[in-house]
Amino acid sequence: MENIDKKGLIVVLGAGESGVGAAILAKDKGFDVWVSEYAAIAPKYCSVLEAEHIKYEEGKHSMDIILSACEIIKSPGIPDTAPVIVAAVEKGIHIISEIEFAGRYTDAKMVCITGSNGKTTTTSLIYHILRRAGIDAGLAGNIGNSLALQVARDPHPVYVIELSSFQLDNMYDFKANIAVLLNITPDHLDRYGYQMQNYVNAKFRILQNLTPQDAFVFWNDDPVITAQLKQIATEAHLFPFAEKAEEDTAAYIDADDNLVFNTPGTSMTMPRADLALHGLHNIYNSMAAGISACLLNIRRDDIRAALSDFAGVEHRLEPAGTIDQVEWINDSKATNVNSCWYALEAMKRPTVLILGGKDKGNDYSEILPLVKEKVVAIVAMGKDNAKIIDFFGKNTNIPIVDTHSIEEAVEQCRRLARAGQTVLLSPCCASFDLFKSYEDRGRQFKNLVNTLKH
Ligand code: ADP
Repeated sequence: MENIDKKGLIVVLGAGESGVGAAILAKDKGFDVWVSEYAAIAPKYCSVLEAEHIKYEEGKHSMDIILSACEIIKSPGIPDTAPVIVAAVEKGIHIISEIEFAGRYTDAKMVCITGSNGKTTTTSLIYHILRRAGIDAGLAGNIGNSLALQVARDPHPVYVIELSSFQLDNMYDFKANIAVLLNITPDHLDRYGYQMQNYVNAKFRILQNLTPQDAFVFWNDDPVITAQLKQIATEAHLFPFAEKAEEDTAAYIDADDNLVFNTPGTSMTMPRADLALHGLHNIYNSMAAGISACLLNIRRDDIRAALSDFAGVEHRLEPAGTIDQVEWINDSKATNVNSCWYALEAMKRPTVLILGGKDKGNDYSEILPLVKEKVVAIVAMGKDNAKIIDFFGKNTNIPIVDTHSIEEAVEQCRRLARAGQTVLLSPCCASFDLFKSYEDRGRQFKNLVNTLKH
């Protein structure tokens, strides 16, 4: 590369939402920028890069250019084992995430949410509370426009940011003002050397740089979180939440089934029955969101109203319709066993459960008691259903049907479910064997359910 200006070259690896946003911010801040994407770049991002006159390549990584970077901003999707990352590390180039980069250019208040499950729901819920209360908040991280793009072109005084462990992996100086850790259960272990502790450490990076003025909001009944908290030092003010009142809990359910919030600035209660989101997991998500809102000094009435009228997030226990008194629910985002556990926990009626897809090393014994209690039939839907058929065949007497497409699965559910029952798509697995993504799986499911209405 010739013409590297005084500020040096920033290389952005990966041209998705976060990469393109980071490239725009880097350009605005006077860096020379090179975007490199090993796969094809989506046409909409090619157009943005061209309109912004940002140099890019796709389908390859030009190592001579990449290794001349003063800093690399890496997409969270690229593992550390990718040859381009190995080479950059060997050369001693600093590798950061888009959130770390964007954090350098804003003084906004940062509300950051991580956890194995519930991130998108809780992030969206906090954002909903703030917007409803008239706060000019931005939504970022895995949802909506990238933080970098907003910092560059549409700045806000407060951001609500969903952080995955992959984003946290390349964050160093970034500081949250409110850090929320919902839960930690095994996930993505392939990216963490199959060592749970590595994954736990990544999640705990959300605590980095917190001061006594900052808050750490976490689920107090999570054994992994509480064990790790004993191992580390943090200056942050702790705000645990739990189903029942425990020492110092900032949110809990009282004996009259009220949700209680107790923070230094705000004490409030609201009937649990008024919460818009159902299921035990969503009580935790509502607690985390409510505590965050209390800490941001949102008025009690605004918090109550927003927790009561939140519309929910697509593909998370999303009602897909009721036909002939059978309720259909799209929980396509349940890509691991733990999230399916919570979905089943929330079921009030006998359930026909659609399970299956790309297995990430699932241990189905975790959901076995709830399956025995609530499930009347299992519809296995995947390229290869042997593990599901074998496990539930050996451990239950529940009928299991073997299907290999969403059309077949919906048809079987239609045949199996009786009036007063629920069909739940909560597959415990990733979708890539039959679908482009969990969104694609959920939308195809909803479309087919819609056709049954006519
Ligand atoms: P994430 O963004 O962390 O993947 P989502 O909010 O998209 O989480 O929810 C994903 C799935 O996890 C949902 O289908 C739901 O069944 C389950 N879930 C949501 N919140 C929680 C929670 N607090 N604990 C356990 N499971 C949850």
